[in-house]
Amino acid sequence: MPFPTAAPVRVRFAPSPTGSLHIGTARTALFDWLLARQTGGQFILRIEDTDRSRYVPGSLEELMAGLRWLGLEWDEGPDIGGPYGPYLQSERLPIYHEHAQRLLDSGHAYESFYTSEEIEAMTKSVGQGDAAEVNRLMRVMPADEARRRREAGVKPAILFKVPLDGETVARDEIRGEIRTPNRTLRDPVLVKSDGFPTYHLAAMVDDQLMRITHVLRGQEWLPSLPFHMLIIRAFGWEPPLFIHPSIFLDPSGKGKMSKRRGSTTDQPTFVRDFRAGGYLPEAVVNWAALMGWGEEGGDREVYTIPELVQAFKLERVRPSPTAVNYEKLDWLNGVHIRMLAPDELARRLVPFMHRAGVAVCRDDLLPLVPLIQQRLTTLDEAPDLLDFFFVPPPPPTIEEMIPKKMTAEDTRAALAASRGLLATLEPFTAEPIEAALRGLAEARGWKAGDLFSILRVALSSKRVAPPLFGAIEHLGHATTLERIDQALALLG
Ligand code: GLU
Repeated sequence: MPFPTAAPVRVRFAPSPTGSLHIGTARTALFDWLLARQTGGQFILRIEDTDRSRYVPGSLEELMAGLRWLGLEWDEGPDIGGPYGPYLQSERLPIYHEHAQRLLDSGHAYESFYTSEEIEAMTKSVGQGDAAEVNRLMRVMPADEARRRREAGVKPAILFKVPLDGETVARDEIRGEIRTPNRTLRDPVLVKSDGFPTYHLAAMVDDQLMRITHVLRGQEWLPSLPFHMLIIRAFGWEPPLFIHPSIFLDPSGKGKMSKRRGSTTDQPTFVRDFRAGGYLPEAVVNWAALMGWGEEGGDREVYTIPELVQAFKLERVRPSPTAVNYEKLDWLNGVHIRMLAPDELARRLVPFMHRAGVAVCRDDLLPLVPLIQQRLTTLDEAPDLLDFFFVPPPPPTIEEMIPKKMTAEDTRAALAASRGLLATLEPFTAEPIEAALRGLAEARGWKAGDLFSILRVALSSKRVAPPLFGAIEHLGHATTLERIDQALALLG
């Protein structure tokens, strides 16, 4: 399979159900998905759930929901099946055992009855970290001792035999050739004594059987690449191409992006945080794609998903780590919000209004969209801007209502005069409302800004609200006059 590729790829996203979907992990899935869609290939979801101790209930559902929310639909996977299933590794145990047996039979693997304490003691006795020496010791156990342990019910682990000398040449398509002296490689476990395979065996077997052409996976797997090449070659297989995109750094660029933080909306970490924080999946995809990839010579930053499918180039994936940039995310989110059709934006705002306790439907929101579409950064800002259209706001305080250089008397006069004007204004739409209020301010010698601020607070109890004249239009005659009357009553 050539690199770069135009031929249809088969790529897999192979998460372990051990927690929430991290944005860095999702970015790898995105690269897979882009490559599959671009080449007319397949994107496969495989769940690596053989480490029972790390299983987190509910995480598989969250993973799938996160991928779907981002729009990364898979072509084969545990829920939809496919020609190379099952796609849950825990349902493939006989396949791994059969393959482990093949390596035992061909002399590439051995059974080990040693305990981890015994292996640790061997390591200490060798010193200097010479892995080949430890490997030599681990591979032998007197036959009668092995028999005794087996008869006592001890289950052996199966380990791979790394060559004791020479070097292993592996290749990462964006990083180049990696040569590793075999002396430095400890025999890896293929099957643990509990009968479950390790990643080293299960992933290599599955990538082969599932006909994977390109393996994209986290940079943390790079040190294991020599093992994987050795295992693949021991089976006599042609290896897939390996690509290890960079890790994400925290915003300062100094440390690795935290795995644990999250559940915050100011520094979202997991896909669910982005969703809860009011980011659009289009924006998250756009932003994540730019972390570790970019077009040649381009500083282009805004892409729709179909544009990314066109523009993405695997060979432009960067090996160097990228610091997450939340300002850019906010900016891109605003850009994508403005790209939405108004009724689509209204639809997406509904859950955020509900979450804030404002029971509205899309059609209620649609007329208000023009007031806020230009100014939203995240969807979760909408309730604060829109709630007063639907529920009477708590009354403002007198201090909030009176502008700095005005008296209570002036403020009351301004409200009363506005009320008089608005009561008879026809048509009751933004432009005539603005003209009337500006005229009033001028005639009375008030600053227009002061008058508008008095009205804004009277109508919404907020200092920051959507554009005033549009807001008055949407509140309508009756509500506008009612709220002005309430404010007048407050001022006494
Ligand atoms: N299950 C591995 C992980 O979650 C997958 C790595 C891979 O994509 O091969 O890290």
